[in-house]
Amino acid sequence: MRSNDTKKLLTLYYATQIKYKVLNIIKTGLIEEYGDLLEIVDKKALNPPKDAWNHQRQQYKAELLLTVLKRLNRFNGQSNELNWILWIINEDLYMETTNFIFGVTIPNRYGILSLARLENSAYFIQKEANHEVGHLFGLKHCELPCVMTFSPSVSHAKLKTKHWCAECKKKLGIKTFKQTI
Ligand SMILES: [Zn+2]
Ligand SMILES: [Zn+2]
Repeated sequence: MRSNDTKKLLTLYYATQIKYKVLNIIKTGLIEEYGDLLEIVDKKALNPPKDAWNHQRQQYKAELLLTVLKRLNRFNGQSNELNWILWIINEDLYMETTNFIFGVTIPNRYGILSLARLENSAYFIQKEANHEVGHLFGLKHCELPCVMTFSPSVSHAKLKTKHWCAECKKKLGIKTFKQTI
């Protein structure tokens, strides 16, 4: 068995107006949290299509953006190799049933993260990126103090931790824990 058999390979897609510095913040936060479990294999520019923009709401419709990733995934499709995708966009996102969402994920495939409500805060951006990637790796929402807690509002999301709880770490098969005193 090769040592990287369990490693998750992630490609970061990004809308072109997102600054390199912000992508680096996301990358650093993911590597800090996921360590050897994750490797960012590529970064690719991808702008959301105009027809996914809702002028009235001034938001992108998440369902339509997911369709873009679905097509992309199929197009790239090497069925034996799992290559996760996280797409970073600047504008706000919504789904049919919600006012807004921070992000959306199809587990084990691809996800989208919007920076619109993250207040240009490195800590907040890293936290929400870690959350979406947790979903990508199959984690569900968690009731414990944990980055996987569901956030119904910006104020709630700001209060939660950036890290996984021990239970979520166990689910991901991370055996080493940082000691906290
Ligand atoms: Zn979530
Ligand atoms: Zn948890």
